[in-house]
Amino acid sequence: MAFDSVLGHERIRGLLGRALDSGRVPHAMLFAGSEGVGKKALALALGRALLCERPRSGPCEECSFCRRTRKALDGLPAAREAATEDNKKEDDALRFNFRLHPDLILVEQPWRRREDGTLRPQGVLVNQVREIVQGVRSAPFEAQRRVYVLDEAHTITDAAGNTLLKSLEEPPAHTHFVLVTQSPQGLLRTIRSRCQQFRFGPLGAALIERELVEKAGVDPALAHVQAAMADGSLRSALEFQSGEWGRWRETMLALLEAASGGLPVLQRMETADALKDADDDEKALALKALRSLLRDVAALRQGADPARILNADEGARLARLGGTRLGERAVAVAEAVSETSRALAGNANALLAFDLLMDAVAC
Ligand SMILES: [Zn+2]
Repeated sequence: MAFDSVLGHERIRGLLGRALDSGRVPHAMLFAGSEGVGKKALALALGRALLCERPRSGPCEECSFCRRTRKALDGLPAAREAATEDNKKEDDALRFNFRLHPDLILVEQPWRRREDGTLRPQGVLVNQVREIVQGVRSAPFEAQRRVYVLDEAHTITDAAGNTLLKSLEEPPAHTHFVLVTQSPQGLLRTIRSRCQQFRFGPLGAALIERELVEKAGVDPALAHVQAAMADGSLRSALEFQSGEWGRWRETMLALLEAASGGLPVLQRMETADALKDADDDEKALALKALRSLLRDVAALRQGADPARILNADEGARLARLGGTRLGERAVAVAEAVSETSRALAGNANALLAFDLLMDAVAC
């Protein structure tokens, strides 16, 4: 099967494999679909295959191009972290144009640490796009083609988008663009219309479950529950294995336990402060952890099998919570958590949003 390093999406993988084998890969593509389903992974696999010396419905993984791009991809998390720490001035955004090879460039939106210590995304900036547009004019350095993968393309600012447009309209024969986005409506219409669109659906729960068991070594019973809760996103499912998830889940579980006996004011304030100071990703993770615990408490009260809840390893503590007054309110508090997520997405004042949430947990 074409591009078998990527999970699911057989139809799109097949289409791209055939396009690759016949030398007819479009010059401007848009990969659209929800988060964590493998759009960027397939965009990068396609980019590597376009550079590869002997592609066979995907990168051969053996030629010098494949070996170099694989190594660069392995180093990407460290490069991203270094770029984030260095991102102080406008020009530093160029560090987020990652050269996985001189002819395979991944453009991500820059992150910057603010004075309060939190990390904030900035959107793909015009100077990042200017660098691409200048590069497009010259021939590829070593490969037969040059490929640009633009991640989170909906964050491209309008100024940057207009700069990009010309290159998308008349791309040189050796150049390919893959724009990756979870919200295609956020792109300039003129950009969308220049691209061949590929729509990525959610991954099947069975597929995610198998991946969790085989690749991440998750216990099969737990993998079944986690896959069902991941909304078709492998990234969400893998998040459940992370240390951050474990830490926030413990913080939230302790909060609920305290709340069941009348939440001390100091702990309320401390938790609201910790949440306010967390990065956006962590805030989302913390709220997801809290919601999952409340969902489990409600399910246990209704007689769910303790082996079939998301936080089955904390089943005893959750069952105890189910018997308290907090247990009676679990569904309503879970709704308050969802409300907090929506408020934050709408740029509400974070401290106020978390204070309100603590109110809902406490009373
Ligand atoms: Zn190769």
